[in-house]
Amino acid sequence: MARAVTPRKEDYSQWYLDIVKNANLASNSAVRGCMVIKPYGFGIWERMQRQLDDMFKETGHQNAYFPLFIPKSFLSKEAAHIEGFAKECAVVTHYRLKNDPNGEGVIVDPDAKLEEELIVRPTSETIIWNTYRDWITSYRDLPLLVNQWANVVRWEMRTRLFLRTAEFLWQEGHTAHATAEEAQEETLKMQEVYATFAEEYMAMPVIRGVKTESERFAGANNTYTIEALMQDGKALQAGTSHNLGQNFAKAFEVKFANKDNQEEYVHATSWGVSTRLIGGLIMTHSDDEGLVLPPKLAPIQVIIVPIPKPNDELDAKAHELMAELKARGVRVSYDNDDKKRTGFKFAESELKGIPVRIGLGKRDLEKGLIEIARRDTKEKSSLPIEGIVDHVVSLLDEIQQNLFDTAVKFREDHSHHVDTMDEFKAILDRDIPGFIYAHWDGTAETEKKIKEMTKATIRCIPNDAKPEEGKCILTGAPSTQRVIFAKAY
Ligand code: AMP
Repeated sequence: MARAVTPRKEDYSQWYLDIVKNANLASNSAVRGCMVIKPYGFGIWERMQRQLDDMFKETGHQNAYFPLFIPKSFLSKEAAHIEGFAKECAVVTHYRLKNDPNGEGVIVDPDAKLEEELIVRPTSETIIWNTYRDWITSYRDLPLLVNQWANVVRWEMRTRLFLRTAEFLWQEGHTAHATAEEAQEETLKMQEVYATFAEEYMAMPVIRGVKTESERFAGANNTYTIEALMQDGKALQAGTSHNLGQNFAKAFEVKFANKDNQEEYVHATSWGVSTRLIGGLIMTHSDDEGLVLPPKLAPIQVIIVPIPKPNDELDAKAHELMAELKARGVRVSYDNDDKKRTGFKFAESELKGIPVRIGLGKRDLEKGLIEIARRDTKEKSSLPIEGIVDHVVSLLDEIQQNLFDTAVKFREDHSHHVDTMDEFKAILDRDIPGFIYAHWDGTAETEKKIKEMTKATIRCIPNDAKPEEGKCILTGAPSTQRVIFAKAY
């Protein structure tokens, strides 16, 4: 049998790790907090990248690349930014090793000390805005719409594969605009791009909202977020889009001459999603048999398994089917390894979350039939081989939709409106707590107290929050709208 997965009910964290490990997505590495992304896991990331990249290009952005290292003085130029990131910085102090005069091995050469230390980028606003000073002189240079695909390092103390690692892969968009209105429009546009990607490709429903001041990106005037609900009832911040105002333009003296030839500071945004999305994908759809992938992101969408073993006749049929499916844009693979048993192959394809499995049986074929199994519902059906390609193509769409609908229902079933602190705590005590819509008095102090008491944080103020008179669940002070609380990753 393929390796087993710990059931979610027994130990959710172990279930997650089992899936990451057994589906061959990633592993821990020799470096604390840093992961090795294996080919199958990277295949998912590549599909995410491709789609997101297309969406960025469609909205007018271009890719560029900036250095991995940031001079320490750059990072210090924007006060809130350095304050937020100082605790997580990896610092390069030397550029050479030498043989240890007192023994074996090598030591850092004390004579090779850098004049100015370099920070391994935790995010690139500073080096990019230092560069934009040279790129932007007039309103004609704006808007400047740039994205970079890169790795970044944040020295996180508590790490978890994909969800929070010390080094992670991401994209970071950095845009420059002539007006505050344009910057705000861009911030919301990219939040919507992320939300569309999450919902239409990852089949992961998200809430679009804005962060409270204490959860804002260091150096931003506002941070917009997409928040998803995982199967253990905890929230995941899946993507962020920041309105940086003129903070970085002022720190790096980036001005432009407007149409009246007057100098003004430029307005900025930045936005990012990371390999954390793979963690979100796993925790939104997977089950106790293994990974479940939405067809649009699955590296393999259909696997054909010969039953009980490959032979010339089955091979020929499989190749014919593959050619037809490929011609329809389906990513299909044929598992003709005759060292593995059929049962093992079935379990393996379930573990890897392959959306559709086609069983090619000798006897079935004689009757003109073929077996189709879908990963999401685990339903199996025996269907006429005639028209099977059309059926599989529409089944992939149906699975994509079903995964989204199931995730929406899960979120609805685990979203609660509460009006008292007792109700609030009672929800949080449940096995699967979820999103809690509650009134809050708008102060950082109350937010902090609630976090200390319950571990729940304000995930966001939803973009579409309806005005509603109410009283803060902690202080009883008046409030005009509900915010969303949850325990979070
Ligand atoms: P930020 O620059 O802090 O707004 O983060 C940008 C994106 O990266 C967010 O969508 C986060 O979910 C994600 N992210 C932040 N820290 C980590 C981490 N340590 N590992 C993986 N993803 C992260």
